[in-house]
Amino acid sequence: MCIFCKIVAGEVPSNKVLENEEFLAFHDINPKAPIHILIIPKQHIKDFQSTPPEVMAKMTPFIQEVAKLLELDKTGYRLIVNNGKDGGQEVMHLHFHLLGGAKLEWPQLAPLEEAKKYV
Ligand code: AMP
Repeated sequence: MCIFCKIVAGEVPSNKVLENEEFLAFHDINPKAPIHILIIPKQHIKDFQSTPPEVMAKMTPFIQEVAKLLELDKTGYRLIVNNGKDGGQEVMHLHFHLLGGAKLEWPQLAPLEEAKKYV
């Protein structure tokens, strides 16, 4: 069982923000911003690339509800999905990072020369 499935099962503790039958939102253990929430489906889906559209159709309003609950809808936020090796995905269970609570930086993600390859 993966770490996020263990959180869903209650075998690993988490600081929950919101849940319903299908989704769970909880605080990231290693926050990168004043508010850093992970939003996951309770069912194990390994990554965004393999996520069925019907899951996203229900996950989108859940994410929006979490943003509203934390009043990030007023100030703005960033939503990040790391997918696979180059995306830097460490936990192979679909999760959205919801980040906010400060004006976020937008760092260079690859060396400038590589990033400009198609410009
Ligand atoms: P990613 O690199 O996109 O796969 O992100 C995985 C995230 O899960 C990281 O930001 C970790 O800090 C976070 N994380 C890992 N284990 C836990 C846990 N037990 N509780 C909360 N967050 C976790």
